[in-house]
Amino acid sequence: MRRGERMFRVAWKIGLIVATCGLWGCAAKRPSGPVIPPSGIVIHPPTPTVVVPVPPEPPVVRPPEPTAVPVPRSQPVSRDSIAAGNATGSGLRHTNDITAWLRDHGWSAPHPVTRGRDLRYETEAPAGRFAVVVGQKEAEWNGRRLLLGFEPRVVAGQLWLHPLDIESHVEPLLGSGPWHPVERTIMIDPGHGGRQPGTRSILGNQFEKDLTLDWAFRLRALLEARGWKVTMTRTNDLDLALAERVDLAEAAGVSVFVSLHFNSSFPSQQAAGLETYCLTPRGMASHVVREYADEVGRAFPNNLHDADNLRLAVAVHRAVIASTGSEDRAVRHARFMDVLRWQNRPAILVEGGFLSNPEEARRIQTPEFRQRLAEGVAAAFP
Ligand SMILES: [Zn+2]
Repeated sequence: MRRGERMFRVAWKIGLIVATCGLWGCAAKRPSGPVIPPSGIVIHPPTPTVVVPVPPEPPVVRPPEPTAVPVPRSQPVSRDSIAAGNATGSGLRHTNDITAWLRDHGWSAPHPVTRGRDLRYETEAPAGRFAVVVGQKEAEWNGRRLLLGFEPRVVAGQLWLHPLDIESHVEPLLGSGPWHPVERTIMIDPGHGGRQPGTRSILGNQFEKDLTLDWAFRLRALLEARGWKVTMTRTNDLDLALAERVDLAEAAGVSVFVSLHFNSSFPSQQAAGLETYCLTPRGMASHVVREYADEVGRAFPNNLHDADNLRLAVAVHRAVIASTGSEDRAVRHARFMDVLRWQNRPAILVEGGFLSNPEEARRIQTPEFRQRLAEGVAAAFP
């Protein structure tokens, strides 16, 4: 081939390549749609190969069995709920003038009544009768005992209550109707279990953990017959931490929590009767502290339910005494009870009698008495 002819052919090939590149574009910016080559034939880009993973078989999800699968021990509370709790109970919203408070509601002033050495003040509202004793934390609601946070005083012939007592006791009882559940779901907590037997009967042959479990079974049957959806923290001799009991209530989303216990004053054998507990409102000293520090200024999540806690406690306390005839040892406040204070729902703890008292222990150890205990608690749940 002559040199001129060779150069002509090379130039022809270069031109062809440049023209082809201009028509097709480069790979980096090629559009994803079909492209049209000079021939005019539409060529679709190859369909990308996509590997679709085959999903594994979905696990079979069953509702957890509370007594078999305890949920983690983390506390089901948020910083927000504690902050909200700390924002309540300031005591600044209310007066300490009980007479003015009653007058504001259209009710008559409390009138003094002398009973023995005690100076009592009594008042009546549509919801019931309320009485306090000057200089004592003793109070009565419809004839049943409850303990105030502070002793009432009389100054210049007029009764004064601490603002926190008006807010935490007077207003929930006199100022509103009886406790009513948001929904009829409850968790019953038979106290102790497993390696935590609780107190031992002075008669020597029974432990608290077995008696509370029997009481709980009886209560469950009665509440279910009333249409309540009932769960229990344990249904056998299971070792459960207090935090786990709170977690179980949180996981179940129940609207109310009731813990069942029996009491002891050992080595004294004298004490007998029913005590019903709810969490101490912020700013008050507790009535029972055991060996724990009572953090008076601290609010817990359950303090958001102070009013309902009290109304539920007085309702259960009254109904159990009516059913059993037990001595009235008052509705009381305690702050140390972990099974109450972390609850995000109304929660109470019932001490159904003293296993350290021989006569009461003998009664508690009969199925008939435990049935009456269960009937009493159930009667408080509409
Ligand atoms: Zn106990």
